[in-house]
Amino acid sequence: MFDSANVHLKGIGASKGYAIGTISVRKHPDFDVNDYVTESPEREKEKFEKAISVSVRQLIQLKKRTEIEIGSEEAEIFESHKMILEDPEFSSPVIEKIENDKMGAYKAVEEVIDMFSGLFRAMDNEYMRERAADFEDVGARIKRRLMGIEEDAAQEMADNTIVVAHDLTPSDTATLDKSKVIAFLTDVGGFTSHSSIMARSLGIPAVVGMGKISELAKDNMAVIVDGVEGKVIMNPSEELITSYKVKKADYDVGKDKMKALAKEKAVTASGREITVAANIGSVSDVDDALANGAEAIGLFRTEFLFMESDTMPSEDAKFEAYKTVVEKMAGKSVLIRTLDIGGDKELPYLKQEKEDNPFLGLRAVRLCLKEHELFKMQLRAILRASAFGKIQIMFPMIGAVSELMEAKKMLDECKQELRSKGIDFDEDIEVGMMIEIPAAAVAADSFAKHVDFFSIGTNDLIQYTLAIDRMNPAVSYLYDPMHESVLKLIKMTIDAAHANGIWCGMCGEMAADPQAIPFLVEMGIDELSMSAASIPEAKGIIRRLS
Ligand code: PEP
Ligand code: MG
Repeated sequence: MFDSANVHLKGIGASKGYAIGTISVRKHPDFDVNDYVTESPEREKEKFEKAISVSVRQLIQLKKRTEIEIGSEEAEIFESHKMILEDPEFSSPVIEKIENDKMGAYKAVEEVIDMFSGLFRAMDNEYMRERAADFEDVGARIKRRLMGIEEDAAQEMADNTIVVAHDLTPSDTATLDKSKVIAFLTDVGGFTSHSSIMARSLGIPAVVGMGKISELAKDNMAVIVDGVEGKVIMNPSEELITSYKVKKADYDVGKDKMKALAKEKAVTASGREITVAANIGSVSDVDDALANGAEAIGLFRTEFLFMESDTMPSEDAKFEAYKTVVEKMAGKSVLIRTLDIGGDKELPYLKQEKEDNPFLGLRAVRLCLKEHELFKMQLRAILRASAFGKIQIMFPMIGAVSELMEAKKMLDECKQELRSKGIDFDEDIEVGMMIEIPAAAVAADSFAKHVDFFSIGTNDLIQYTLAIDRMNPAVSYLYDPMHESVLKLIKMTIDAAHANGIWCGMCGEMAADPQAIPFLVEMGIDELSMSAASIPEAKGIIRRLS
């Protein structure tokens, strides 16, 4: 199928950049349950336990190797794989199947892994869905051990290799020779899949979601990868190769310049400085934020800490996480958003009524104002952490002034509790709100009198303004950040903030949109907060503005 020259294929450009090289198709060894010899339950248990202990040892090695070759944050994935293997929630059902159903260890592992990965795959949240791949990776590792297949030696590769795979698991990427691999192409995956994240960390282009590329492509085929447009050209002609070499050289020079300047401030030609901040979801994101030149944390989404465990994290656990972030930021401000659960995010330990329209339901601050102890526990943790650096508190999904006043009243009660116990906190802590409901944007002037700042959450503001579900691909073509009504609401919000002497930032995806940044700066935005990887480019765009 790729015999003719210049065969163009489309996918999702998950990591920008260009690569020109030859393909190496990565396939996993073919084996199935019928190749496995089942013995007595005692023997099967022994084999399973041995497979676990060998795998745990391998994962410790892979973590070390990844720490050196890529970074400590990327290496953390192997810690979570190790935790899965050591968790009785995984091993007990396997042992039960071996003992009670006389099942072979291989099949028992397969069934338990399928059950866990099925649970994650069914989740609404893309990030959680992608975690199914971690269970599958762990399962495949154990199964290889049970089949007696040795592995994890780095693969021999030629220079300029473009790795093609159905999907690249963390274990796959850890064993690739990073000095030879210049791009990834995968059949499946999205922007947050492991292969995409790794490609961005390695600074190499990736095009994912390509359908059947791993079946159709053959080793040693010549290929051009265009991660900017999400395009792949098989068997490219000499002319095309030459033109892409020029594109690649320009892109690489621009990228090097951007990186070198990432830590410098973003000032327009006329001297206006825009704060460029990072959005984070956990403590482990901070290093990346700083490395990319974040001048602040403009949005700390706190729900992930709540979603990661089966039980409610304690006030101390939250306090420790917030304190670590603020200490790592060493004097730079950290904007902590209170819990935004509901909508597409659920907590397994919090009983919530099923809602017909969860995005219009008991979400975020609405839920917190019902669940007083849950809310206050978080507010106390944030206040306590504010004694260790500059923290700002932000309430999400505020639609009425009465909600804001109630949330602030609860914050005052928490301050009073801490004062009476002699616990330190920042008495001048800034309090702000997200503007993500159109009603709040329209009435921004009334809200501005009661807060120290606004941050515009365009992900929701756009979905509520245009009545477009932000998660629904069938209507995504109508999800338009540059829609006149969205721009008007943004302008009204910024103007109301400034008329009342407060600052206004933006933390939705639009803040990193190269097309939108010039308009936002023109409208007077004070801060743009985005994923760490977008910061160098955003700063570069701001510097080119008049
Ligand atoms: C937003 O709505 O723009 C936002 C930043 O919040 P989230 O994406 O977490 O809803
Ligand atoms: Mg939101």
